[in-house]
Amino acid sequence: MNSEKNNELTANQHQENKKFFLYENVIGFISCASFLTLALVSAFAEELPLWARIVLFLIGLFMFVLGGSFCIKIETETGKYECQNCHHRYVPKYSSVYLAPHLGRTRYMTCPKCHKKSWQKKII
Ligand SMILES: [Zn+2]
Repeated sequence: MNSEKNNELTANQHQENKKFFLYENVIGFISCASFLTLALVSAFAEELPLWARIVLFLIGLFMFVLGGSFCIKIETETGKYECQNCHHRYVPKYSSVYLAPHLGRTRYMTCPKCHKKSWQKKII
């Protein structure tokens, strides 16, 4: 009975985590798309004055950094990362996720337990 309840909680949490990753994808897509659009407009809209093109580019860059920071915040706090070396699962610091190279949601970070660097997979 008790373990059934635990499984249910984990299933709910899993659903919740999937929802957060969907938000991350949507926010990431919107911020990338708006950055690319504004960067292309600022590069090719020669009828606009230079200052307006620079402002458009900076707005795009701001949206990209803001959206990206928000996505990384969601990614840090949703689920856990697993060390490939000792299989320790943990929630890392925002700053270490922010600065880590990544392929999708797998990030190259230092494990807080064994202190070795590896490509750490996201577990939800
Ligand atoms: Zn480790």
